[in-house]
Amino acid sequence: MARPSGEKTRCGGVWTEARFNSFIKSGLRQLSRKWGPMQQCLKNARVGRGEYLCAECEEVVSKSRLDDDTRKRVNNVHIDHVSAVIDPVEGFTTWDDCISRMFVEVDGFQLLCGACHKVKTLEENLIRKESTAGRKNKTRQCWSDMKQRCTNPNSQRWSTHGGRGISICNGWDTLDNFVADMGLKPNGKTLDRIDNDGHYCKANCRWATPKEQGNNRSTCVYVSYNGDTLTVQQWADSVGIGHSAMSKRLREWDIEAALTMPKDCTVETPEATQDAIRREYEAGGVFQKDLAEKYGLSQAGISKIIIRGKK
Ligand SMILES: [Zn+2]
Repeated sequence: MARPSGEKTRCGGVWTEARFNSFIKSGLRQLSRKWGPMQQCLKNARVGRGEYLCAECEEVVSKSRLDDDTRKRVNNVHIDHVSAVIDPVEGFTTWDDCISRMFVEVDGFQLLCGACHKVKTLEENLIRKESTAGRKNKTRQCWSDMKQRCTNPNSQRWSTHGGRGISICNGWDTLDNFVADMGLKPNGKTLDRIDNDGHYCKANCRWATPKEQGNNRSTCVYVSYNGDTLTVQQWADSVGIGHSAMSKRLREWDIEAALTMPKDCTVETPEATQDAIRREYEAGGVFQKDLAEKYGLSQAGISKIIIRGKK
């Protein structure tokens, strides 16, 4: 969802994307109080008049209590999500994730007493804080590794970077500028140059998973089949298996089988199943086609298993 375009302001500042997002989110949160399953959760936890069972400490608590400090009555039961936010730092990256968590079915909610809810919130805040600190360190590491590769001839990776003319744009000599352009390092991702012969600068860099990067490396192995030239990772994706499984296939199988056989037909078909297939085939009266259907494998896969048994 994009924020309204144009020069808009709202009270207290400019209408940025982040502000727009939190505005929509708080609106959705308001609406979710009327969400049926949320009300159902409250109903399910009710054990008596104004009394509810906390899912965490399993104690019966009343709906409101007197606050120790303010001496005012405050709400003492909270409807809470069972599952935590996936990434405590980034929160949700798509509206789909955000909305589907907010409007889960009744088993996605739990009722917590005020004390338990407070503890949970404190814990979550701590994780967020630690995680942010950790990511700052990791980002710094990433940035200094990049500098090593490009400016230090003694670096192990000098030959593939500085040694072949890859340089770093002027602004990125400070960590602050680097973070301003790229943001903190997301978990599970590393710095990747989009054009492998280009320099380190905002336009040519992104945070990418090892898989995304694997398709982008200058040492990538390309495999051609039937007019298509793709990397091993891309072939693996087309079948729906991992990189190492595809490499294994390419070593052990013929190229057509390796690149086209469905994913359940990997070399990892359990030994016991393979034995059963061989026995049934050797007993006679059954075609490979039938076995393929029975075991949910391709006919080529069945034939492979039978041939392997004869070796
Ligand atoms: Zn509790």
